[in-house]
Amino acid sequence: MRRKLAAGNWKMNGTSAALSELDALAAKHPSPSVDVLICPPATLLHRAAERTQGTGVAVGGQDCHAAPSGAHTGDTSAEMLKDAGATAVILGHSERREDHGEQNEDVRAKANAVMEAGLQAIICVGESLEQREAANTLDIIGGQMSGSIPDRSTGENLIVAYEPIWAIGTGKVPTLDEIGEVHDFIRARLERRFGEGVGRSVRLLYGGSVKPSNAAEIFGVSNVDGALVGGASLKAADFSGIIDALESV
Ligand code: PEP
Repeated sequence: MRRKLAAGNWKMNGTSAALSELDALAAKHPSPSVDVLICPPATLLHRAAERTQGTGVAVGGQDCHAAPSGAHTGDTSAEMLKDAGATAVILGHSERREDHGEQNEDVRAKANAVMEAGLQAIICVGESLEQREAANTLDIIGGQMSGSIPDRSTGENLIVAYEPIWAIGTGKVPTLDEIGEVHDFIRARLERRFGEGVGRSVRLLYGGSVKPSNAAEIFGVSNVDGALVGGASLKAADFSGIIDALESV
């Protein structure tokens, strides 16, 4: 059985005042029947971890360097994120691939570092609108999976997030059939590469304009084990509705 996961990505949003949203979330879901993860900006991570300690809310990072330490000004290692209280790290988000030119091999190296540190890697894959319109979606996702996912992956250290780039922050969402097609494809590829046991145990998240109003139908799609949520994770009231939907699947 794969545990359901509601993961929030605050991106570059939030200063100290935003930490109260974590209190509200923990109060509303004192012992959730699904996993709940919030990935705040690095500046808030340590305080977020302290604030959520002993609650049903875990915290994670949004990126890391592939090296454990060294002369990399401005970067943060997986070990440091772990030390700050992270249990997971989002990697290969399309905004990192676009803003920082991250390639699949960079994501794989970072994922290896995250797994080495004993954390979970949430590896994002997803096609652009042009790629979807050219009927290249599955080829793109397959290539990103082969290039980004380390050989050492297991159901404990890997989570894959399918995030169509054109659905992120736009209010546009693929049809349920389209989501199902990609999630079934990801599952089949994981089973082929890692064997049925591991392949079936890796959790698959959908991400892209998930809101309380559309979460339940998305969570009903085959091989959707939860969501990676951007905008609707910033306010406890919104994210709470998504957690409710996941708990009632
Ligand atoms: C994201 O950036 O991972 C994301 C899914 O954003 P949003 O929910 O705002 O579309």
